[in-house]
Amino acid sequence: MASQKLTEYRRKRDPKKTAEPFGKTKKRGKQPIFVVQRHDARRLHFDFRLERDGALASWAVPKGVPLEPGEQRLAVHVEDHPLDYATFEGEIPKGNYGAGTVEIWDTGTYELVEAKRDGGLTVRLHGKRLDGTWALVPAHLSGDEKNWLILRKRDDGTVPPAPRRAYRPMLATLTEDLPRGEGWLFEPKWDGYRALSYVRGGEAKLVSRNGNDLTERFAPVAKELAKALRTPDAVVDGEVVALDTQGKASFSAMQQGSTHLAYEVFDLLEADGEVVVTNRAARLTPCVRLHAGFAGSIADEPCPCGRPGPRLVPADPARRQ
Ligand code: MN
Repeated sequence: MASQKLTEYRRKRDPKKTAEPFGKTKKRGKQPIFVVQRHDARRLHFDFRLERDGALASWAVPKGVPLEPGEQRLAVHVEDHPLDYATFEGEIPKGNYGAGTVEIWDTGTYELVEAKRDGGLTVRLHGKRLDGTWALVPAHLSGDEKNWLILRKRDDGTVPPAPRRAYRPMLATLTEDLPRGEGWLFEPKWDGYRALSYVRGGEAKLVSRNGNDLTERFAPVAKELAKALRTPDAVVDGEVVALDTQGKASFSAMQQGSTHLAYEVFDLLEADGEVVVTNRAARLTPCVRLHAGFAGSIADEPCPCGRPGPRLVPADPARRQ
């Protein structure tokens, strides 16, 4: 019975204090559904849920669902959730279980390929982002039965994805005249450090234009970029700048070791393992979710130059223009 399966779910939550569903709606479609929810709680993670016997079997995946065939990630088995949780998005208020923001990262239907005796499952997902076969394995990592693995299986007949690539930043070229016509975007020139960011499994690595690793030097940027992205796997291009007391990018502030950093993100090269070729600027904005708390900073704020789009800036109002 679905209602018995949800005892633990209900025990942890107070319907008077959270808008989360409590299992009133009945299921409509024929195909079983899956959902992956990005849950920005005490720790950012992705909740992977599969419809099973009238409820949503659930796993918390700290680094996001693996995209490369053969890749596996920890999936912590958690309590079943009611079916109508699959459409839940919003805030879970402070002080409640799982307090934070929930948004749907992907959803769709699935086919059960195999259910093993030990509880292991192989499923073929049909979502927008996730399309292929995954396995959930009760691996009991570190001796804890909650610690499962989720792994991406190789699909028969599908072309294997290109190996993960390294990029070289496109550099400016001196010219006498401005180029005209369609297809040109104009960007300000920033005085900071150009940095390509490779975000894999929710962890960002920053690389300079000469291929040097800047991750440690700009550790707060790396940390907050991973949280600001709406997806755990992406490659973005941008420039790390230091802000002066007016909130303006300043190379001398950088040289003086200012800790008030911003990361001007101006290009999206890869999202969810897919190389982004067209509409990169348009796809960038929804990909980056501006996030409060960038080492005491970051806000959804337009750049002083008027350029729209994501920008990580200090949240301290005294340091804004
Ligand atoms: Mn969660």
